[in-house]
Amino acid sequence: MNQQQFENFTASSLYCEKCKAAMPVRERLLLVLPDREIFDYLCTGCGSSVGRREVTAGEKMMAQAMSGRARRAPVSVRLR
Ligand SMILES: [Zn+2]
Repeated sequence: MNQQQFENFTASSLYCEKCKAAMPVRERLLLVLPDREIFDYLCTGCGSSVGRREVTAGEKMMAQAMSGRARRAPVSVRLR
């Protein structure tokens, strides 16, 4: 819950050292790697990078594993 709120906050505004103020930022997809995606937060006032966020594939896989565990296909077993 707290992390969700923090992400919402960072996505809307971050402190910019050049502007000396909390500035609105825009998110930009910086890099796509096989195991993660990196987002850059750019100050809308001066255009400098004020933050960065990584979304790892592990987080996505964790969510998929937790949701997929219940509907995993049963192993076919013949008792006779
Ligand atoms: Zn700025």
